[in-house]
Amino acid sequence: MSTNDNPVTANFISQIITNDLKEHKNQGKVATRFPPEPNGYLHIGHAKSICLNFGMAAEFKGTCNLRFDDTNPEKESIEYMQSIERDVQWLGFEWADLHHASDYFEQLYGYAIELIDLGLAYVDSLSAEQIRIYRGTLTEPGKESPDRNRSIANNLDLFQRMRAGEFTDGQYVLRAKIDMASPNINMRDPALYRIRRVHHQRTGDAWCIYPMYDYTHCISDAIEGITHSLCTLEFEDHRPLYDWVLDQLPSLAHPQQIEFARLQLEYTIVSKRKLNQLVMEKHVHGWDDPRMPTIAGLRRAGFTPKSIRDFCERIGVTKQNSWIEMGVLEYCIREDLNENALRAMAVLKPLRVVIDNYPDEQTEELEVSNHPQRHELGKRIVPFSKVILIEQDDFAEIPPPKFKRLIDGGEVRLRGSYVIKCNEVIKNAEGNIIELRCSYDPDTLGKNPEGRKVKGVIHWVSEPHALPAEIRLYDRLFKVPAPDNEENFLDAINPESLHVINDARVEASLVNAQAETGYQFERTGYFCLDAQDSLEGKLVFNRTVSLRDGGWGND
Ligand code: ATP
Ligand code: MG
Repeated sequence: MSTNDNPVTANFISQIITNDLKEHKNQGKVATRFPPEPNGYLHIGHAKSICLNFGMAAEFKGTCNLRFDDTNPEKESIEYMQSIERDVQWLGFEWADLHHASDYFEQLYGYAIELIDLGLAYVDSLSAEQIRIYRGTLTEPGKESPDRNRSIANNLDLFQRMRAGEFTDGQYVLRAKIDMASPNINMRDPALYRIRRVHHQRTGDAWCIYPMYDYTHCISDAIEGITHSLCTLEFEDHRPLYDWVLDQLPSLAHPQQIEFARLQLEYTIVSKRKLNQLVMEKHVHGWDDPRMPTIAGLRRAGFTPKSIRDFCERIGVTKQNSWIEMGVLEYCIREDLNENALRAMAVLKPLRVVIDNYPDEQTEELEVSNHPQRHELGKRIVPFSKVILIEQDDFAEIPPPKFKRLIDGGEVRLRGSYVIKCNEVIKNAEGNIIELRCSYDPDTLGKNPEGRKVKGVIHWVSEPHALPAEIRLYDRLFKVPAPDNEENFLDAINPESLHVINDARVEASLVNAQAETGYQFERTGYFCLDAQDSLEGKLVFNRTVSLRDGGWGND
């Protein structure tokens, strides 16, 4: 993967648009849209489509609409719509207009009448099962329905009565009259309308017939004056139908459909249906669980809009399906947080350290930089006192080779503070270390000690000042790179994707921690406050990402 700081925005789609503009197609206009179905929360795959659609509009000074493809009321909801609006805005994009396919129901109905009038659509009484059998296969042509040659007058009458609610669900469908022998199965008289008595979240009970996706999508694009209708590769075989519908309706403009590869990200799932299953069956704690690849989940985990946009830029837009490593996404957030996260200290597994030669009641307010390189981010006060907590792992009674941290009789620097020396190791009856007795060198604040070298630096918090915190360490949600390819993706769930540390201690300044602010807990990783679950006396932090690839980042 390239780590070039000037990612190349040019892709095959921008080349097509550039050419269209040269030829003055569409009166020199560029209009795109992002058209989610509101049947779930947006995921990282949608982010790719959002960045592309809004990105192309921005690059060519055009517009991008947000359009809800809300033609499947059983699965859709207002909650999903609201989450989609929130997520698109959070990613940093502004739509020109907000539309719903359901806004066009009346017009779509009118165009269906037009197609019937032209002898290009008919009402069919075959059952769904019969239609499937009549459709044929990839190797065998389909068979024409006995209703295919119904008269125009009869079709008009039946279609109007379908709308009026005279028939039961599934009794009739409206189909396009195209070609039952077409090598493209999508062209074998696809359904345009079905009868479905379900309440629609926006149109209520006004309709008992709903238009099909393929029919709705092209006409919605045309109505909105979309010039370039960007969609994923699985719609390539639907393009002839997209074009066919619009070719029959010359009063409508004819947008150009262009397909690009879906994002497939390793160790996760990008399908709303399966993500919905994870939520409904409680394999995760909701759509915004930080392990979810949803925008809401990534946001709660501490990802920034910038890192997600950067990721989408880096993976590029092509016509080849490929798998992207999770490391690419992690790289993007690390880049951002390394530069922007405020530094703080947190001790995940505390070990008590008493500094015997430090005055009993004294507290020093040490000034520590919020960021080692960016001095404009200021300093904070870190209290130092006689009893501090360090990480259990930062002390070793029997040190492994090259261990630079604290050992019995050895010295280590406390970050932003003094050098301490361990004089005695206190154990409980079971032989576990419960406390270290240390001394400090008062002459080492911000200076190297005289006449000796102290190599190790460890983080710490002052015990009486530190705040209790719950720390949530997340790992990949799935054990295998392509859970989608498993027989049952649920079997591939990583049972250890969440590790909760209940009794961590964080430095006092984090009492003011803000949601959606990244912190680097020194030597431990990048974290953010979980504003939803934090309580007054118990802060909760989510780990966004470790400091380095595949590591805990201990020195
Ligand atoms: P899902 O299977 O998750 O429901 P979808 O394609 O059915 O995905 P839509 O709500 O129809 O979801 O998607 C809105 C837009 O986002 C579409 O243009 C779709 O092509 C695009 N999109 C969805 N998933 C991806 C992905 N993984 N990579 C790139 N674009 C995607
Ligand atoms: Mg869909």
